Amino acid sequence: MKKISIIVPAYNEEEAIPYFYKEIKKIWEKMAKNDFEVIFINDGSKDQTLSILKEYAKKDKKIKYISFSKNFGKEAAIYAGLKKASGDFITIMDADLQDPPELIPEMYRYIVEENYDMVATRRVNRKGEPPIRSFFARKFYKLINKMSKVEMVDGARDFRFMTRQVVDSILELEEYNRYSKGLFSFIGFETKWISYPNQKRVAGKTKWSFWNLLIYACEAITAFSTVPLVISVLIGLIFCIISFLMIIIIILKTWIYGDPVSGWPSLVCIIFLISGIQLFCIGIIGQYLSKTYLEVKKRPIYIIKEDNIGKD
Ligand code: UDP
Ligand code: MG
Repeated sequence: MKKISIIVPAYNEEEAIPYFYKEIKKIWEKMAKNDFEVIFINDGSKDQTLSILKEYAKKDKKIKYISFSKNFGKEAAIYAGLKKASGDFITIMDADLQDPPELIPEMYRYIVEENYDMVATRRVNRKGEPPIRSFFARKFYKLINKMSKVEMVDGARDFRFMTRQVVDSILELEEYNRYSKGLFSFIGFETKWISYPNQKRVAGKTKWSFWNLLIYACEAITAFSTVPLVISVLIGLIFCIISFLMIIIIILKTWIYGDPVSGWPSLVCIIFLISGIQLFCIGIIGQYLSKTYLEVKKRPIYIIKEDNIGKD
């Protein structure tokens, strides 16, 4: 009997969890040949998420929970879940039913019958999302795919079904700045992509503000590309060449026409421009340095306050 572990990060999901439980139960009833465990990761929720989880865990042996000491973010929650999962097959899902559980039997079939290592999902549209968010999301994927060797699929979700081998490979990547979509792409393996239309959140509110997404996007770029550093070198080089030419022009002009004292406004503009570019480039270097700093410190990715799984 093969065991399937379902990992569910949950941050302030008291409203969504009962719906999720109902739907996921249907799946394990349908796939009665398999053993199941559902690991909820309470990512420092401020509402009743944890007490609801404890209640379910008391009633149902399949329900496990891990509770963080504070909010560490979805990426940390996914990592913790993967670490604690004991199944032969592992899947990651959102608590808000935006990842349809009905797809699980199909995903399972691809792996068992068609020998894929991993089944990943993407949304074919972004219906129901604010247009400005979709616009920037598209631009982000275009940009990062130009900048990074690791391919990022537009509309890819974290909803994935994978074998133990894939999960073990992911767990070997112990970096602190985690961008799962990139990590899954980095490790390779045969991946089957399936698509479905965007689903509405069943209850509760999204945890991602525009600002959070922007920071997340910058993190993804610095985690998977060093192209911004190259760009800053190029900008520096171009400006060196321009200023060298300008010096020659000014020397020649002074020789030929004498030296009238004029042009200090343009000088001020140039100083502003150059110092702006310098700050920009130092900022880029700073981004990478700060990431390196965090990696070097080797802080834990998450801290568990309590769980019902025990030591691994
Ligand atoms: N989530 C989390 N920690 C966070 C933010 C979100 O564990 O800091 C979880 C959240 O509970 C949900 C999933 O990540 O299960 C996706 O979040 P959400 O639905 O808010 O994002 P969206 O679908 O709007 O992108
Ligand atoms: Mg959601």
